[in-house]
Amino acid sequence: MDPGHGGRKDPGAVSRTGLKESDINLSIALATQLELERLNISSVLTRTGNYASLLPIRALLADALNADALISIHHNSPSANPSSTPGTEVYVQSKSDRSQRLGALIYEKTFAYLSSITNINWVSRSDAGVIQVLNSKGSDAYGIIRRPATPSILLELSYLSNPSEAELMATDAYAKNISKAIAAGVQSFLMTDKTISDPANKIRRYNPGSGLGSGSCDDALTSP
Ligand SMILES: [Zn+2]
Repeated sequence: MDPGHGGRKDPGAVSRTGLKESDINLSIALATQLELERLNISSVLTRTGNYASLLPIRALLADALNADALISIHHNSPSANPSSTPGTEVYVQSKSDRSQRLGALIYEKTFAYLSSITNINWVSRSDAGVIQVLNSKGSDAYGIIRRPATPSILLELSYLSNPSEAELMATDAYAKNISKAIAAGVQSFLMTDKTISDPANKIRRYNPGSGLGSGSCDDALTSP
């Protein structure tokens, strides 16, 4: 698992109340690790504290360990429109059926948990869901999933930039339940033949001018 961002210079998105994405990503990764342990699934984190870790190292750790899956954990921040449902996004590898299956299974669980919470004023982009995000060359735009041969996905669980969602993220219940949802998706991926009917073939073109990726999640982006 890769808790996105970290270190003094890269907190990722920051909520209006000062909640840092790097901290939330790490606490969710640690909580997910505990859930996976309960399911007898071993895991390794690309960082275990608040420090910077270079993208090439983080992206290739899963291959070096011969892992079954790499999951990068993020919380979104670019502006999005009010929505009746959570704007959860899961970026999958365009050339990997296994990444697309993993992404669809984890999306199903995380979206179901978030959707079950009442009294949140969600925001979402219109193409939210399981998506392939491609750069101008037709490759996966996000380096953390473009580099590994390991089936890899990047989660943007919900919007830290939205005060209503940020309030939820500050609760222990959120950490506990979202990590259970991620772990359940991993368990389905590793231990069942389950597939999801969602083909996970929606494509978003990464366009630096569009605002996508500007700001918070650049560390997961291109670079050589
Ligand atoms: Zn991020």
